[in-house]
Amino acid sequence: MNEIKHHLTDALLMGYSAGNLPEAFSLVVATHISMCDECRSRMASFDAVGGELLMDAGTSEMREGSLDAVMAIIAGAAPDPLPSPTRRNFNRTFPEPLQSYVNCDIGDVKWRKIGGGVSQLVLSTSGKATVRLLHIPGGVAVPDHGHRGTELTLVLQGAFSDETDRFNVGDIEVANEDLDHQPVAELGVDCICLAATDAPLKFSGFVPRIAQKFVGI
Ligand code: ZN
Ligand code: ZN
Repeated sequence: MNEIKHHLTDALLMGYSAGNLPEAFSLVVATHISMCDECRSRMASFDAVGGELLMDAGTSEMREGSLDAVMAIIAGAAPDPLPSPTRRNFNRTFPEPLQSYVNCDIGDVKWRKIGGGVSQLVLSTSGKATVRLLHIPGGVAVPDHGHRGTELTLVLQGAFSDETDRFNVGDIEVANEDLDHQPVAELGVDCICLAATDAPLKFSGFVPRIAQKFVGI
């Protein structure tokens, strides 16, 4: 099993812990956390800090689930606040909470071709940000692009490389306005990613016709 090398930023973990992220981003963050021990424990410490801040504020407001947590401790059974790792066994199914959004096994996804051999499945979420599964055959490149907002890409199968580094299963790439890149799927197993964006991508210079199909991303 490969080591996860690229993790969530503190800003994303804090935003998720505070419930401030759009649903599309929350899904990517929560799916990475379910695959990554390191980010799960970092998240637990942000949750603890958030709880203390609430206590310090002297409010009687209780965090969602805290009564259940107290009751569970009283009953002698500690609650499991975050999903346990599912990384080893998603050959057929996606890790949760993603599986609940896709509602079928990896082999049964109804991919829609968007050109150049790349296919996608847009997942239904509320809010302005969008999230999709991308299927990129080995050796195929996503057109070179920049970003108007934030793009989160989580690798679920295979691997891709761009100008910054190589991204393997479980790795997450956080791209923003500063980055122009051309992700290329590694030869071998097809690359499947979960990608969320809060603004359309930017295709600079000559835009190949297939890139037009990505403009909606
Ligand atoms: Zn991580
Ligand atoms: Zn990008």
